[in-house]
Amino acid sequence: MARENLKSPFNPHQQSVGLDHKIVVTLEKFAEVFRVLLWEQAKENRLSPIQLQILLFLNFHSADQRKVAYLAKEFNMTKATISDAVKSLINKEMIVKKVDKADTRSFFLNLTSAGKKATERTALFSGALQASIAELDGKEKENLFRSLFKVIQSLNQKGIVSLQRMCFSCRFYEGDRENKHFCQFLNLPLKGAELRVDCPEHEPS
Ligand code: SF4
Repeated sequence: MARENLKSPFNPHQQSVGLDHKIVVTLEKFAEVFRVLLWEQAKENRLSPIQLQILLFLNFHSADQRKVAYLAKEFNMTKATISDAVKSLINKEMIVKKVDKADTRSFFLNLTSAGKKATERTALFSGALQASIAELDGKEKENLFRSLFKVIQSLNQKGIVSLQRMCFSCRFYEGDRENKHFCQFLNLPLKGAELRVDCPEHEPS
């Protein structure tokens, strides 16, 4: 088969005939943006990218989510990889283990004051991306969010990405997943742009 006929989004000839292909390539650029911004910030703070992501996650999430198994699911990595990153952060005195009193074989991960300082320095690593998004008007942002939400939901259903705290997997969600959404916890209808991907009140359905 001629090279230009190969049906791949990474084939520039195919991109000119299909919007889907162009969207895939654009999303790949976003993955690069994240990778670059994360690397820069991690390097400056003598951390690996996953160590930095773990610190930020621990800073913003509840105790029952601050466990190795939960982190492995969150970052789509093996428990062994997460355990290595955790060991390294413990050696750097940025996190400590705390036994879970409800299950003494299990433990939570807590930030130390050095870990908290590191998260304060790095929490805005995606600032350049946020600034570009801020340039969109309200309608553009809403449409972008709704489209991305639909794509990520579809990937989640195919088992490719884990979304542990989003509305559609929450026991408080009621609706048709298209136009009608209601949160029983808030006792409020939700507009499309109000759906959550990382909700602190989420409980698995
Ligand atoms: S509690 Fe949060 S995740 Fe659950 S339906 Fe309400 S807003 Fe969505």
